[in-house]
Amino acid sequence: MRQVRHEHRRRTLCEEALKLSEDGVVISDAANRIVAVNPAFTQITGYEVDEVRGQDASVLASGRHDKAFYERYWQTLRTTGHWEGEVWNQRKHGDQYPEWLRMQAYTDEQGRVSHYVGLFTDISRHKAREQDLRRIGFEDPLTGLPNRRRLHELMTSRLRHLRAGEGLDMALIDIDGFKSVNDGMGVDCGDRVLARFGQRLARYVAGGVVGRLGGDEFMVIRTTTFDDHQAWITDLRSHMSEPFEVEGHSLRLGLTIGSCRAPEDGNDSGVLFQRMESALYSAKRYGRNHDQRFRPSLDMVGSRQLALVNDLRTALATGHQLELHYQTQHRLDDGALTGIEALLRWRHPEHGMISPGDFIPLAERHGLMVPLGNWVVDHAIAQLSNWHQAGLFEVPLWINISAMQLIQGDMESRLAAALSQHRVPAWQLGLELTESVLLDDRAGDIYPRMEALRKMGHQIAIDDFGTGYSSLSYLKRLPVDKLKLDREFVRQLPDDKEDAAITGAVLTMARGLGLEVIAEGVETEAQRGFLLEQGCPQVQGFLFSRPVPANELHARWAKQEQLA
Ligand code: C2E
Ligand code: MG
Ligand code: MG
Repeated sequence: MRQVRHEHRRRTLCEEALKLSEDGVVISDAANRIVAVNPAFTQITGYEVDEVRGQDASVLASGRHDKAFYERYWQTLRTTGHWEGEVWNQRKHGDQYPEWLRMQAYTDEQGRVSHYVGLFTDISRHKAREQDLRRIGFEDPLTGLPNRRRLHELMTSRLRHLRAGEGLDMALIDIDGFKSVNDGMGVDCGDRVLARFGQRLARYVAGGVVGRLGGDEFMVIRTTTFDDHQAWITDLRSHMSEPFEVEGHSLRLGLTIGSCRAPEDGNDSGVLFQRMESALYSAKRYGRNHDQRFRPSLDMVGSRQLALVNDLRTALATGHQLELHYQTQHRLDDGALTGIEALLRWRHPEHGMISPGDFIPLAERHGLMVPLGNWVVDHAIAQLSNWHQAGLFEVPLWINISAMQLIQGDMESRLAAALSQHRVPAWQLGLELTESVLLDDRAGDIYPRMEALRKMGHQIAIDDFGTGYSSLSYLKRLPVDKLKLDREFVRQLPDDKEDAAITGAVLTMARGLGLEVIAEGVETEAQRGFLLEQGCPQVQGFLFSRPVPANELHARWAKQEQLA
């Protein structure tokens, strides 16, 4: 009895060890039919025990190796009882992967082969890390996960291998405000968080596909027979929202997710990618921590927008439909002119005037913001040069800068070239950056670039101040000259108590930091009175002037000069 119990215990321990192993284990009989597999096998191949038991082990073959390869394989295994090497196999859901396989044949008392035991490791990560594959660029170097290009391939392959009743759930995940992690904890630490995020995601969708598109954007795909897309997303979110412990900090990340499902939402990887992106974009408009599945109506918006994007391209090519309008800025106590803001206008041949609030986001999303921004830079500087020659407006002209110009374009050299061409000093061209630009992680570390721009002689203002999330400590070390208090706070002055308090606080703070302040959107005498009382030095708004074309600005100025 003791002997039997002992034997039983030994066997249980062996089985437990197999369960723990991270190597896949497959045991097959003399006819190569699978007898047993361990959990790592399921994790790597996607096949459950019941799906493969009794099957020929060649179900895993990818078809990448020719007949001669397998002949050599069997010959070695039969004659030496052993084979070791690299094999490309295929997961249940279709993607092929390289594994390092060690095969051992076991014989019975008569010396005949009774079983084969195979031990294998998924080496797709190692493989991808190899120089050649990296050069071709299939892997994201930070996380070791598939990159955008590889994700396209993997999605295509999964789509091709869908069986009846199966679907693909897929999601694009964007980490909210990742910039503040980089800023607060350092870029190295930010990298570590991204790597950990990728690892956790990969573990969560074991058997699925996980990749990084760049920055803080990840993608996951799973093949499933369940129709529970929303529950999957909710679960995914709650799993990924658990805190990450990094360098003694407990870090909880907010996530914005755009998702879709094949075949319902499309069956082409290009289309599905696009739809997921428009879903993500739409989710972002709701603010942070939101998810959105693709809806056909998003595409409708898409096609109308696409037409507009094409029109904008045409407008840029000819330049005829674009104009700059100018709004004056004033000292509050005596109304003296202190600056002028250039605001872009698009006169569409059919739709009439289109607001920059509508076409600028469009240009940003479709890669037109850099040429558009360059157009503004060139025209603003040409205008300055005209004024200079006419002896008009010896005050700074302020232009608005989009995040995209900092991310994608070489704005600095464009500015320098145009200024020197027109012989305009840099102090005359002020740059307005919104708070969201400062917080956009894609712009990289923006601090030294702002320093450099100021060294060139430009002044920098933070536009729409108060609408972003910048902290006071952040502001303190930013190289800026001026805050533009957003018109949202000015609108309900002086009646709204909170807005009045915010305005007062911003003014006090700016004085403390030695920054200039200008209040935007001043429309009424009451607003003006309140701001004057609070000691606000400068204002801009309809009460003084709407944005007007250059010739109108000149006409008004001439009239004022006559009066004076
Ligand atoms: P912004 O830079 O904050 O510009 C101020 C906006 O407030 C302008 O709207 C202006 O017409 C409006 N405004 C000024 N005074 C008043 C007022 O008293 N009452 C009200 N209700 N509104 C007032 P606009 O021209 O529609 O521009 C909207 C936004 O589009 C701008 O906000 C800016 O972020 C962006 N934008 C405009 N031109 C450019 C450009 O050349 N480049 C970039 N990147 N963005 C631009
Ligand atoms: Mg502005
Ligand atoms: Mg503004």
